[in-house]
Amino acid sequence: MKITLLGSCSGTEPFPNRHHTSWLLESDSGDIDVFDAGECCSHTAHVNGIDLLKIRNVFISHSHMDHVGGLLNLLWTQMKLSSVRKLPAPSVDLYLPEPELGRPILSILDLSEFKSSCMKVGIREIHAGEIFAASGIRVEALPNRHLGGIRPSFSFLVEAGKRRIVYSGDVTSWRELIPFFSAPCDILLMESGHHVPSKTAAELREAGIEIGKLVFLHHGRRLLDHYEEEIEAVKAVYDRPFLAAEDGMVIPL
Ligand SMILES: [Zn+2]
Ligand SMILES: [Zn+2]
Repeated sequence: MKITLLGSCSGTEPFPNRHHTSWLLESDSGDIDVFDAGECCSHTAHVNGIDLLKIRNVFISHSHMDHVGGLLNLLWTQMKLSSVRKLPAPSVDLYLPEPELGRPILSILDLSEFKSSCMKVGIREIHAGEIFAASGIRVEALPNRHLGGIRPSFSFLVEAGKRRIVYSGDVTSWRELIPFFSAPCDILLMESGHHVPSKTAAELREAGIEIGKLVFLHHGRRLLDHYEEEIEAVKAVYDRPFLAAEDGMVIPL
């Protein structure tokens, strides 16, 4: 079981060697669940040896482009791969914060050389609480107030066997995740695009939140433009394992 970070960048202008936010969980069974689908996620996954036809679910935290810009191409690439390999039509469920996000994506697929009918796509609206549970993977959604809560936005708890992974999505504060911290988490994937990483790390440590590994992703300009400086600042206040995401980085579980 492992996590692969596909895109480490927030919605900044294009940045060398980094693409918008996306990551995936690959179970021991081979099933893959994708969380957010920023631009280039399918390309990064494929060139890093991920079999896109093993993807069964895509969970989208919110409808901002740095989290959904690669979703259409992800579906197209799945169709392409199944066509090239002469395999049956792929099947995937999209868990969306707003179901209307799915319609234009399917409409554009219908206009491409592959039609949406070449693929089974389920559209499921995310709600608070458990949204998926099968084959040893359980996903729970927690509404957050990203950018004031004007559009639906969610954080996720992923339970994979005995492992607990918390993914912030985009949040106003890490404190919105406190309901997920009722038990220790093995991995916290924490966005750094709207926050100062060293401040977040210091507050998590001070609050005594039990985190096996703190992973910053969804980097904003502060971290990207002052990388070494900010990493040193985190080290100064956080004496537990942490890392800053790079595209293609693998985290074994
Ligand atoms: Zn974002
Ligand atoms: Zn956002």
